[in-house]
Amino acid sequence: PVALDIAAIRREFPVLDQQVNGHPLVYLDNGASAQKPNAVIEAEAQCYREYYANIHRGVHSLSQRSTSAFEAVRGKVRQLLNAPSEKEVIFTRGTTEGINLVAYSFVEPRLQPGDEILITAMEHHSNIVPWQILCERTGAKLVVVPISDAGEISLEDVEARLSERTRIVSIIHVSNALGTINPVKQVVDLAHARDIPVLVDGAQSAPHMPVDVQALGCDFFVFSGHKLYGPSGVGVLWGRYDLLKAMRPWQGGGDMIRSVTFEKTEFADPPARFEAGTPNIAGVIGLGAAVDWFMALDPAAVAAHEADLLAYATEQVGGIAGVRLIGTAHERAGALSFVMEDAHPHDIGTILDGYGVAVRAGHHCAEPVMRRYGVPATARASFGVYNTREEVDRLVMAIGKVRELFGPR
Ligand code: PMP
Repeated sequence: PVALDIAAIRREFPVLDQQVNGHPLVYLDNGASAQKPNAVIEAEAQCYREYYANIHRGVHSLSQRSTSAFEAVRGKVRQLLNAPSEKEVIFTRGTTEGINLVAYSFVEPRLQPGDEILITAMEHHSNIVPWQILCERTGAKLVVVPISDAGEISLEDVEARLSERTRIVSIIHVSNALGTINPVKQVVDLAHARDIPVLVDGAQSAPHMPVDVQALGCDFFVFSGHKLYGPSGVGVLWGRYDLLKAMRPWQGGGDMIRSVTFEKTEFADPPARFEAGTPNIAGVIGLGAAVDWFMALDPAAVAAHEADLLAYATEQVGGIAGVRLIGTAHERAGALSFVMEDAHPHDIGTILDGYGVAVRAGHHCAEPVMRRYGVPATARASFGVYNTREEVDRLVMAIGKVRELFGPR
C-alpha cells in the first residue's frame, strides 16, 4: 500500500484541531468511537440542507432524491465488505442491534433446549448478553472458548467445543479490549465442516483493515458506522441472502411489508424485511460518505499505518517500568491495553486527560476479559488513521507523569 499523508488526513477532521486542558488534543479513544471527517459532516448536513425527506414513500422529488442517496449506500457497503449483493446489506443502529437481530430472527427459531451457542472469552458484552437472553428463553447453553495469557484462542479449543448441538458460532474479529486479531477464516472452516453458521463481530475490524466477507466465508458480519468515521446510530448487518430470505422479521411496522390486512400480512423480501420504520436517513447517507472516504484511503494503507503505530506504542509503553500490557497476541490491531502497578486505570485516564491525551479507562464492555487477567479495568489507547508517532510520544510522556505521581518512590 502507498504511504498515507497523515498531516493532510488530520486537516479533514476539524475536532482534532483543539487544545484540551492547555495541551493539543491527542485522541486515542478510537476503539470507543472515531472522529468524523468533513466529508461525513458535510454529507449529513447537505442531506438536511438540500434534499431531506422520508424515503421509499413519496412520489415527490425530494423523497426520490433521499431514497436514491439512501439506497446507494448499500452498494458502497457491498464494496467495502466485498459482499456478493447489495440486497444483503441491512441497515441497523449498530453492531449491537445486528447481533440481536441475528439472535432473534435466525438463531432462536432453530434452537431446542440443550442446543449450544459458541462464543469466545474475549467477546464484547454485545456478543454475550443477547445469547444469554436467548438461552434463558429457549434452554440453550452458552459454550465459551478460553483465551491464553497472551489473549489468543486456539483452533484446537474451538474444534473441541464444536458439537452436534452447536447452532451458531459468534466470534469477535478484532478484540476491542486486547487488540487480538482472531483467525476467523479458520474458525469458519471448522464450523462449516459441521454445517454450523458463523457470525463475525466486525466492530473493530471494519475500521482497521480490509474486510472480505467472501474470503472469510462467514454467514453474517456486523459493524458500527461510528467506529468507521461515520455517524453514530447507524450500522450494518451483512448476511448471506439465502439465510436472510428464510429469516423471520425483526421488528414489525411500516416499510417491511408487501401487503397488510387484519387477516394476514405478507412480509417484504430482505433487506426491507428487517428495516421497519423510518430509519436514520441522514445517518445512513453519512455512513455512505464515511465508507467512500475510507475506501479512497485504501484500507490496506490504513492497516499498515496503524500497525506501525501499534508496534511503536507497544515498544514505548511496554518499556515503561511498572506498566503491564494486557493482550500481547501475535496478531493485533487497533488497541493497546495496559495497567500500572500503583495507579488505578481511572486515575491514569484522568491524569492523561490533564495532558490532553484521551484514552479509555474501564472494562471496555468486556468484563470477562478483565476477570481473566485479574484486573478491575485497563487503560486503553486505541488508534485511528489520523494518529501519529508524535502522539504516541505524548502518551508516553503523560504516562511518565502518572508514574511520578503514583509510582514507587
Ligand atoms: N463489538 C465490539 C468488538 C465493539 O468494540 C463494540 C463497541 N465498543 C461493539 C461490539 C458494540 O458496538 P455498538 O455499541 O456500536 O453497537
